[in-house]
Amino acid sequence: MTDEPLVLSDSPREGVARLTLNRPGARNAQNLDLIRQLDDGFTAAMRDGSVKVIVLAANGPDFSAGHDLRQLLDKEDEARFGEHGSSGNFSAPHHEGYMAREEEAYIATCRRWRNLTKPTIAQVHGRCIAGGLMLAWVCDLIIAAEDATFHDPVSAWGGNGLEWFAYPWEFGARKAKEFLFTGDIWTASEAWRLGMVNHVVPPGELADFTLDLAGRIASKPSFALKAAKQSVNAALDAQGQPQAIDTAFQIHHLTHMRNLLENDGEMVDAKVMPKMWKDREE
Ligand code: ZN
Repeated sequence: MTDEPLVLSDSPREGVARLTLNRPGARNAQNLDLIRQLDDGFTAAMRDGSVKVIVLAANGPDFSAGHDLRQLLDKEDEARFGEHGSSGNFSAPHHEGYMAREEEAYIATCRRWRNLTKPTIAQVHGRCIAGGLMLAWVCDLIIAAEDATFHDPVSAWGGNGLEWFAYPWEFGARKAKEFLFTGDIWTASEAWRLGMVNHVVPPGELADFTLDLAGRIASKPSFALKAAKQSVNAALDAQGQPQAIDTAFQIHHLTHMRNLLENDGEMVDAKVMPKMWKDREE
């Protein structure tokens, strides 16, 4: 772990807090340290009474390359994550610890972030791959640069998708299946056409456009913003989104377990996937 924060925080406009993923060398791949720091950043913004809107941005060429699968082999990263949240048991042997870590790092945190009572805006540029989608989707609004792309390749590795399984709500059931079945890369304009993205803007205008929008939202009464957000989220809840995500997560762990069994208990995900990431970057 370096001393450089993996998530930066600033206050670029009155009423607006901005969290910035700051692991550009790894294309903002999410290890457990980054997840923990992001959770701390959201919590601090929530506790700050002067903050009305939270922006999630990223440093470097890409928004996020997804979950850092090397963390599966990184016992120090795992130990530092320790007892984050209220679940624990992350070092349990075999699949037990693996599932416990993902329950906390991906499901519990995403649910908490999705339910924050202040509006959140994801500011996405470059690539947003697999677990990167999770960070964008938990936000209320998504603003994308014209160069942004969205991609989930995990079916090629035997997976059903990422842990926060919001696909059917992000682009509708039929396009969600196509996205997962093919692993195709979708452009920002395609994501906008499908309703996943609110606005697509030139890369040079991304930060200002997002802050201007955040500033306009921040001018509204905070309780109205909270009420509107909770009312829309209630509609998603009434459609069964939380239950569907939990069921898909259990299926997701069957796919992890299958990979482990097929490879005599080796963490095939950790050993094979980083090479695949690397192959794709070259
Ligand atoms: Zn997983």
